[in-house]
Amino acid sequence: MKFDRVLGYSVATILVLASASCAVRKPAASQPAHTTHWSYSGATGPAHWGSLSPEYALCSTGRSQSPIDIVSSNPRDLSNIAFSYQPAPLNIVNNGHTVQVNYAPGSFIQIDGDRFDLAQFHFHSPSEHLVGGAQAAAEMHLVHKSPDGRLAVVGVMLVEGDHNPALDSIWSNIPAAGKTATPPSVTVSAAALLPKDQRTFRYDGSLTTPPGTEGVKWNLMVAPVTLSSSQLAQFRRHYHGNNRPVQNLNGRMILQDSTP
Ligand SMILES: [Zn+2]
Repeated sequence: MKFDRVLGYSVATILVLASASCAVRKPAASQPAHTTHWSYSGATGPAHWGSLSPEYALCSTGRSQSPIDIVSSNPRDLSNIAFSYQPAPLNIVNNGHTVQVNYAPGSFIQIDGDRFDLAQFHFHSPSEHLVGGAQAAAEMHLVHKSPDGRLAVVGVMLVEGDHNPALDSIWSNIPAAGKTATPPSVTVSAAALLPKDQRTFRYDGSLTTPPGTEGVKWNLMVAPVTLSSSQLAQFRRHYHGNNRPVQNLNGRMILQDSTP
């Protein structure tokens, strides 16, 4: 399978997963392979993803999988990610794996001159990445796609602390599993969810959900943002434990931006 074919497939899969819930899907026998049910525990949990479907094989055979434990990194003076995010009407889906905000076209980032458009962001709790073995309360993934089909994810750790007002419009509109909500006159700001210090860890990884597609440019913010204990509890009423365990680094180099 060619590289661009893999990435094209992965984006399609993200969008399929975004609009469908395992809970409301047909039985496995009647499903196309790319919607094979998976979960975060038991017989369809992360240890088994690679064998659930041939389409998911990279989850076990891949050499550049995510998430990882960022144990050490190499300082570099990297050019900062340029964020061009606009507020957007809230479109929120509870897809059976996470709470995901589908973002209206027009918001994008530039990494070393390449444009990647923001497609959606979603949450894992606890965090998927570790930093020096430490896990955060939650992690947000902002998923971007370039015009030629490459993926770049910006990860932001969420730690317990001050109330985060940027989460309010999201947290108060989480629909039931399998449902999408588009409440009128409610907007969301991805920009408001970013930390002020925008230094990143960067490495080459994968989707952290099946099919585990590789070639994803990972940019994990060094600085976290906060959410209150009640905001964390509110999210965990929907999802607690939707985190894939860390994967082998396999010699990959992690860069850390050393300058603000
Ligand atoms: Zn994610």
